[in-house]
Amino acid sequence: PPTPGEVDCLVVGAGPVGLYQVFQLGLQELSCAVVDALPFLGGQCAELYPDKPIHDLPGLLACSGAELVGRLVRQLEPFKPRCVLGQEIVALAAEPDGRWRLGDAAGRVWLARSVVLAAGVGAFAPRRLKLAGIEALEGRQVWHREPRAGDSIGAVPWVHGGDDRALDAVTALVDLGAPVVHLLYRREVYPASAARVARLEGLIAEGRVVRHVGQPESLLLDDAGRLVGIAWMAADGSAPAAPASSLHVSLGLNPRLGPLADWDLGLARKQVPVDPATFETRLPGIHAVGDVCSYPGKLKLIVSGFHEATLAAHAIAHRLRPDAPRILEYTTSSARLQRILGVD
Ligand code: FAD
Repeated sequence: PPTPGEVDCLVVGAGPVGLYQVFQLGLQELSCAVVDALPFLGGQCAELYPDKPIHDLPGLLACSGAELVGRLVRQLEPFKPRCVLGQEIVALAAEPDGRWRLGDAAGRVWLARSVVLAAGVGAFAPRRLKLAGIEALEGRQVWHREPRAGDSIGAVPWVHGGDDRALDAVTALVDLGAPVVHLLYRREVYPASAARVARLEGLIAEGRVVRHVGQPESLLLDDAGRLVGIAWMAADGSAPAAPASSLHVSLGLNPRLGPLADWDLGLARKQVPVDPATFETRLPGIHAVGDVCSYPGKLKLIVSGFHEATLAAHAIAHRLRPDAPRILEYTTSSARLQRILGVD
């Protein structure tokens, strides 16, 4: 079995609130790691509105989702936390010594003296294409992620989707050496950036990409169960089919609360009830902050999550060091805080 990562606190979720949680735990000089199901930091800000300006962050007149994430990441750099991306925490169990054992989908194990669930609206997972026989092809000829070198794409690769990621997948397949890439999307207009659409138009003009408008209907398999074609329903009502050697599906991401629902947290309306003084859940040592937590008056706002993360960090420090004096220190004047932030 792998050696468990041992931390004072494991933060589950690297959205804006999880990132600020790491910063606050750092100020408390607690070791921590953060795990997110997404392959990048920032949660909803990075996934759902990276380019949209946020106007209600204190003192920042306008700050895009991506800029906020960048600023939060820079702020926690002094603490050099371990970040594990692209992994969902799927298991939680109590240890006899009072710690919590958490496991991710890849089999990595964490032993944590405390846990903060900053899981937002859930772990973002790719929206899956539902077609007969598709599951057996996953990882061999069908993928619900971006193309990578080593994928056996064959001579006739297809992409299904129309957003930025789908168009990036088309470019990636061209770069991987596909002679012609087929793109299937239900509409003629792509919900993607102008730059990506222009790049796609260029590839179509060069004959490197063929576009189809329609909704996939079925996968055509040979006698050995290999993908050999795709049939779709076209906008004009016809049902064409064409050869296919592989399929990358890019239909966006869906949040799902997933395993949290099984952890005896007393979930109500997909939120975890907490004590608003400590943000501890009903499980000792397990806290919840940000969109995932609920208490009277809870607002799903970033600024509320920052407050929750601050109180949770103080409560965790007190729980793990009950004999230490409880002093409120200011970053403007505390030599200790300035030393750990590297600004003294
Ligand atoms: P999230 O941002 O949801 O991040 C949670 C993270 O946890 C995700 O990355 C997820 O993958 C991960 N995760 C969940 N479960 C697991 C697991 N088991 N294992 C590993 N990882 C897991 N708020 C404002 O204050 N001002 C605004 O102007 C504003 N505008 C918004 C605009 C839009 C379009 C949307 C959708 C939201 C907006 N919000 C705004 C709300 C704000 O984005 C959320 O309040 C905020 O993102 C909550 O942060 P969080 O860290 O709690 O959760």
